[in-house]
Amino acid sequence: MPETAELPDGVVTAVRGARRVLVLTGAGMSAESGIATFRDAQTGLWETFDPGQLATPEAWAADPALVWAWYAWRIRLVRDAEPNPGHRALADLAAHREVAIVTQNIDDLHERAGSQVAAHLHGSLLDLRCAQCGAPFEGLPELPEEPVERVTPASCAGCGGDVRPGVVWFGEVLPEDAVRETEAAIGALGPGDVCLVVGTSGIVFPAAGYPSAAAAQGATVIEVNPVESELSDLCHHVVRGTAAQVLPALVTVLDEG
Ligand code: NAD
Repeated sequence: MPETAELPDGVVTAVRGARRVLVLTGAGMSAESGIATFRDAQTGLWETFDPGQLATPEAWAADPALVWAWYAWRIRLVRDAEPNPGHRALADLAAHREVAIVTQNIDDLHERAGSQVAAHLHGSLLDLRCAQCGAPFEGLPELPEEPVERVTPASCAGCGGDVRPGVVWFGEVLPEDAVRETEAAIGALGPGDVCLVVGTSGIVFPAAGYPSAAAAQGATVIEVNPVESELSDLCHHVVRGTAAQVLPALVTVLDEG
């Protein structure tokens, strides 16, 4: 269990005073559950591949078995991972404040910790669908026991097309309903509310634009990240710690009244 963090006074005051908390999470949120961020080195078989090259429609068109093998391995990782204390703290936060979680993550760890997620901006790893006709694929195809470099994707029962993960690849359009829910959650913020920005490097748009939209609503923007990000300068407060250290400390502050 990681140590909890010391919180700056300004952060404590902001969180205590907020009615609503919008939480924007990125890959760092799940790092302490053992799911590597894109900027961290990948391990084992996949260390020589650039995720930014695999997570594209072009990579899928060129070699679906390579791309599916990478996702099959990530699905296993996610399935075997557990929510960390940061995920659980956000679920607890909903007992104290109106919470909306908007995540760039494609895993289901927020849900498994007990949170309702307002929007999965980049889709969900486990929502498989046909790459050709778009029909959902029920359940999960058999996954290899060990990471391997090529796995033939499952076939769609309707049209025979290859089945792909339900994620948004670089260059693809974000799901309309996720964008609508996010904009509604930002629009619901007012002065005195808080926007927590957890574990995102702030490079991938439009997600990287949401913290400044929250600030424009009058919300206090607080970054939780062990290192500086592209968003640090626009945040009102930065807490240099990990999700599993800082988020439980925030909930403790509210528990204490
Ligand atoms: P990113 O990889 O660009 O950045 C991760 C950020 O998290 C970095 O700023 C890093 O300093 C920070 N971080 C690392 N460990 C942390 C911790 N323990 N606590 C808090 N912060 C920590 O990720 P991104 O900004 O989310 O964007 C990249 C894309 O990667 C997104 O599109 C996302 O869908 C995808 N992705 C998702 C997952 C997942 O679903 N778990 C994993 C990897 C990548």
